[in-house]
Amino acid sequence: MDIRLDDILDMKKTHHCGGKTWKVLRVGMDFRLRCETCGHEVMIPRVKMEKNVRRIHRAEAAPETAEH
Ligand SMILES: [Zn+2]
Repeated sequence: MDIRLDDILDMKKTHHCGGKTWKVLRVGMDFRLRCETCGHEVMIPRVKMEKNVRRIHRAEAAPETAEH
Protein backbone atom coordinates (compact mmCIF):
# COMPACT_ATOMS: atom_id res chain seq x y z
CA MET A 1 0.00 0.00 0.00
CA ASP A 2 1.38 3.34 -1.04
CA ILE A 3 0.95 5.73 1.84
CA ARG A 4 2.94 8.91 2.05
CA LEU A 5 3.46 11.77 4.40
CA ASP A 6 0.58 14.23 4.52
CA ASP A 7 -1.88 11.77 3.01
CA ILE A 8 -5.33 11.79 4.55
CA LEU A 9 -6.62 8.31 5.33
CA ASP A 10 -10.21 7.18 5.57
CA MET A 11 -10.32 4.42 8.15
CA LYS A 12 -12.88 1.63 8.36
CA LYS A 13 -13.03 2.01 12.09
CA THR A 14 -14.05 5.35 13.49
CA HIS A 15 -12.11 7.01 16.26
CA HIS A 16 -14.02 7.31 19.51
CA CYS A 17 -14.51 11.01 18.77
CA GLY A 18 -16.46 10.02 15.67
CA GLY A 19 -13.69 10.98 13.26
CA LYS A 20 -12.82 8.76 10.34
CA THR A 21 -10.03 10.68 8.68
CA TRP A 22 -6.43 10.68 9.81
CA LYS A 23 -3.46 12.61 8.58
CA VAL A 24 -0.14 10.84 8.11
CA LEU A 25 2.58 12.52 10.15
CA ARG A 26 5.23 9.83 9.92
CA VAL A 27 5.76 6.69 7.88
CA GLY A 28 7.95 3.67 8.51
CA MET A 29 7.52 0.43 10.46
CA ASP A 30 5.09 2.37 12.58
CA PHE A 31 2.93 5.16 11.32
CA ARG A 32 2.06 8.26 13.26
CA LEU A 33 -1.41 9.50 12.49
CA ARG A 34 -3.40 12.46 13.69
CA CYS A 35 -7.16 12.34 13.94
CA GLU A 36 -8.44 15.20 11.79
CA THR A 37 -11.48 15.59 13.99
CA CYS A 38 -10.08 15.81 17.51
CA GLY A 39 -6.34 16.16 16.89
CA HIS A 40 -5.40 13.03 18.84
CA GLU A 41 -2.16 11.41 17.66
CA VAL A 42 -1.44 7.70 17.59
CA MET A 43 1.42 5.40 16.64
CA ILE A 44 0.22 2.29 14.87
CA PRO A 45 2.11 -0.60 13.24
CA ARG A 46 1.99 -0.49 9.46
CA VAL A 47 0.41 -3.93 9.02
CA LYS A 48 -2.36 -3.13 11.43
CA MET A 49 -3.06 0.20 9.82
CA GLU A 50 -3.15 -1.12 6.26
CA LYS A 51 -5.97 -3.46 7.18
CA ASN A 52 -7.91 -0.53 8.47
CA VAL A 53 -7.52 1.90 5.59
CA ARG A 54 -10.53 2.35 3.38
CA ARG A 55 -9.25 5.08 1.14
CA ILE A 56 -6.32 7.40 0.66
CA HIS A 57 -6.86 11.04 -0.16
CA ARG A 58 -3.84 12.72 -1.56
CA ALA A 59 -3.70 16.41 -2.23
CA GLU A 60 -2.72 17.01 -5.81
CA ALA A 61 0.84 18.17 -6.14
CA ALA A 62 0.79 21.72 -4.96
CA PRO A 63 1.55 24.11 -7.77
CA GLU A 64 4.79 25.94 -7.32
CA THR A 65 3.97 29.29 -5.87
CA ALA A 66 5.77 31.91 -7.86
CA GLU A 67 6.75 34.70 -5.56
CA HIS A 68 7.66 37.89 -7.31
ZN1 LIG B 1 -10.51 11.66 17.09
